[in-house]
Amino acid sequence: MTFHMDSKNYMEYIKLVSKKITESKDYITEIDAATGDGDHWVNMNMGFTAIANSSAELENLKLSDMFKKIGKNFISVVGGSSGVLYGSAYLEAAKLTAGASHLTPETLCGVLEAMTNAIMQRGNAKPGDKTMIDSIYPAVQTFRLGLEEGTDLTMLLPAVKQSAIDGAESTKNMVAVKGRAYYQADRSISHIDPGAVTMSYQIGILMDYALEHLTPA
Ligand code: ADP
Ligand code: MG
Repeated sequence: MTFHMDSKNYMEYIKLVSKKITESKDYITEIDAATGDGDHWVNMNMGFTAIANSSAELENLKLSDMFKKIGKNFISVVGGSSGVLYGSAYLEAAKLTAGASHLTPETLCGVLEAMTNAIMQRGNAKPGDKTMIDSIYPAVQTFRLGLEEGTDLTMLLPAVKQSAIDGAESTKNMVAVKGRAYYQADRSISHIDPGAVTMSYQIGILMDYALEHLTPA
């Protein structure tokens, strides 16, 4: 089995994320009030709503141009660290997909890897710092290892999703060293990181989408 994800598919995925973020207002705001400055939901909702609202235009672009527009949107529309970090991630995805018409399991994994590296570089953070990285990093590791081992995608895609969820959950036991949560580091212990949670939503929805769009190889 395999999958082919073009710009139209990707914008369908973005709309699903936008819906999920919008529905999660109370929970994300509550956990961000515990560790951060309480604006993470507003930032993410503003970004994904704006991008989803541009889907009629974006779904007709080449994959790389679509990623570039998404990145620029995040940077211009979204305040806070997450705007810059997601912006950098999507601009890196645009570079990687120049000339490509669709994503395959292999190129999607490469895109997620490039996004992870862009976020780590831009924010000067690493796994264990209690950020969104703690969700995407282990998910990408699971994805890469599974592809190398030839794991069936019907097993691998749910495993990638689970790694993202477990990674977000693991931030509960971490002390924040980056971002605004750092300033209240001792208060952040035992609280899950909001950016890791919204990242796990995105990876989960992406894996579900890919799973639903598997085709014979
Ligand atoms: P801000 O931190 O500027 O208020 P947001 O509230 O939108 O921005 O996003 C907060 C989330 O961003 C955090 O929960 C964390 O996951 C993530 N984050 C903050 N700083 C960094 C960083 N340097 N590297 C990676 N992720 C970060
Ligand atoms: Mg914030």
